[in-house]
Amino acid sequence: MDGDTQLDALIVGGGIAGLWTLDTLRKRGYAVWLIESASLGAGQTIQSQGIIHGGLKYALGGNATAASNAIADMPQRWADALQGPLRDVAIRSRNCLLWSTGGLGRLAMVGAKLGLRARPTPATNIPNCLAGVPRPVLDVPEVVVEPASVLNALATAHKDVILRCDGPSGLCLKAHAQGVSAKVQSAGSTLCISADRLVLLAGGGNGPIRAAMGLDDTLMQTRGLRMVLARGDLPVLNGHVIKGSKPWLTITTTTDAHGVRVWQIGGEVAEQGATMTPESTIDMAKAHLTQAMPAVRASDLNALDFGTIEAPRYEGQTTGGRRPELPTLLLEGTTLTGWPTKLALAPLLADQIAEALPPPTHATALVPNNLPRPSPAEGPWNQSPTSKARPCETAATWNSDHWARAD
Ligand SMILES: Cc1cc2nc3c(=O)[nH]c(=O)nc-3n(C[C@H](O)[C@H](O)[C@H](O)COP(=O)(O)OP(=O)(O)OC[C@H]3O[C@@H](n4cnc5c(N)ncnc54)[C@H](O)[C@@H]3O)c2cc1C
Repeated sequence: MDGDTQLDALIVGGGIAGLWTLDTLRKRGYAVWLIESASLGAGQTIQSQGIIHGGLKYALGGNATAASNAIADMPQRWADALQGPLRDVAIRSRNCLLWSTGGLGRLAMVGAKLGLRARPTPATNIPNCLAGVPRPVLDVPEVVVEPASVLNALATAHKDVILRCDGPSGLCLKAHAQGVSAKVQSAGSTLCISADRLVLLAGGGNGPIRAAMGLDDTLMQTRGLRMVLARGDLPVLNGHVIKGSKPWLTITTTTDAHGVRVWQIGGEVAEQGATMTPESTIDMAKAHLTQAMPAVRASDLNALDFGTIEAPRYEGQTTGGRRPELPTLLLEGTTLTGWPTKLALAPLLADQIAEALPPPTHATALVPNNLPRPSPAEGPWNQSPTSKARPCETAATWNSDHWARAD
């Protein structure tokens, strides 16, 4: 169509998958825009614990698989980016601690070493809250990033080609043999875009977009999670607890907008919590914490605020709804649809997308300056049900407000 902006690729969705793919494609010379309907990373990326997994959980059983090999490359990919274009990203921790409720058996130690490019080593800096846990406690070379900061760094680098549309209904997509035609409503303006390829990276938004385009929306699966948050006078702790030979509890630490520490608590409790009430999930989380850290007493936990947040994960469909091990990428004519499965795997998905595209043919085009750019999403611990949460973002529901500070 005359007057349309002509692109090599149009990306829909500005979570980690969309932003990392945008960065990869621009570095390879593609004319590409990214359209976001709410805040960048609203949904999974902002809720994520930020661990750049190196394959530990696949390796614990002692078996190296294609998945464990692929994910084992990710820490180095991220390390290179964190020393280069992402050098200003906030790091929650340079490593994760690993300990077990029953002591790390020899098998787990061997397995942990087997699948990782860099070996776990005995931890040198063990926080007081881990007094009394069965030794050894290991340092695993998995960096923990602040997801909001990653979103911000990538968005800042590419703000000239990122655009916010007026919600999901502000984007109308039509795929055809030559590519895609998009009509975008944005703050009173209408833009028409023609792109040779459409790249859907909208997390849970991929399902409805695919349905509206007449594509099979059952190829996305949703796995429920209820993430637990604890807020208060907490030490910095980033690590995994093993029970038997399986990861059981994962704790990461961030701070809210007022500088109060927040633990994100995931693992089995978050998976089981998806079908439990917030209150029972919190009770289970407290029981798991005291089991994982004998030095922590129930009275210590009662001095904290606990909250939960529904945090579903959206992934490519698998048999029986099990967790995929690698990213999913669907190639259907001129439309590509992807789910990274993990924050850590976003570079791998971006590479797969770049390899599936024809060579670039269009000249760079920039989003007009007068159109709105989306902001990175706010962590759910920074929102209250009454605060002005941005669309698509969920506030945590807290059981008490001892540590809440006025905005
Ligand atoms: C609680 C939790 C903890 C996790 N912890 C980790 C971890 O520690 N390490 C790890 O590697 N992985 C982790 N993950 C997984 C990881 O967060 C996700 O795999 C990853 O963030 C998915 O990124 P995404 O870009 O595909 O989706 P999202 O982050 O959900 O982003 C999708 C984007 O698309 C936008 N969008 C939606 N609909 C539309 C539309 N119609 N038009 C335009 N834009 C749209 C959304 O607003 C959003 O910005 C965790 C996930 C959860 C839920």
